[in-house]
Amino acid sequence: MCDCCGGGSISRRQFMYGGLAAPLALGTARKDGLVEPVLRLNPQPGPRRVAVTLDACPGHFDPRIANLLVERSIPATIFITAVWMRMNPDGLSFFLKHRDVFTLENHGARHLPPVLGMQRVYGLEVAGSWPAIEAEIAGGAAAIYKVTGRHPVWYRGAAGLYTPSVVPRIEALGARVAGYSLVSDAGASLPAEMVAARIKAAQDGDVIEGHINQPRRSSGAGIAAGLAALQASGARFVRLDEAA
Ligand SMILES: [Zn+2]
Repeated sequence: MCDCCGGGSISRRQFMYGGLAAPLALGTARKDGLVEPVLRLNPQPGPRRVAVTLDACPGHFDPRIANLLVERSIPATIFITAVWMRMNPDGLSFFLKHRDVFTLENHGARHLPPVLGMQRVYGLEVAGSWPAIEAEIAGGAAAIYKVTGRHPVWYRGAAGLYTPSVVPRIEALGARVAGYSLVSDAGASLPAEMVAARIKAAQDGDVIEGHINQPRRSSGAGIAAGLAALQASGARFVRLDEAA
């Protein structure tokens, strides 16, 4: 979610999900000891392939991005929180109406980072304990199942940061930890031009991360412009679930 923490890398572990096209590498660490998993698609010959993932943290619905994705048939994975779903019934209906475009995956029940202890992350209260992390994941998954009849496959913790020891425990629950390789908007804090430039510069295999919950900020316009330019350049868009 934030690229302000690109400091020293820790041990890089490559996870392959049973021959899947989506290796997961645990890479960048923040200095407070949390990990920010990196997820990329396997490179393939041919045009650039990228996956678009957009977080619906608490907040609102950004039609600038959502309409563009539908108009241009660009598939996107929405990491959605149960709290966003309650706050945005019309936005949720829009996602559900366009299931050919949008796949809903788990961003937690209350948007509590899967972090142990008492620290705050980007100002957010954290889950704090393993039972609270489990409740965060289970609550998010149940909310998605209730409206889609489908169990989510991926989980992305709030803030994209994890206590290292909880990552294998999350995977043991059967959830795939959804990192990313290209942070487009740094928590919807960057100006549109910078966001668009980052997206346009996507490399083959990038999993792009951004936000679809901040319609009043400039960043969302940049996501829309960047994705349009990326499509015009011939890039192919794939879903995370297609990669799996
Ligand atoms: Zn979030």
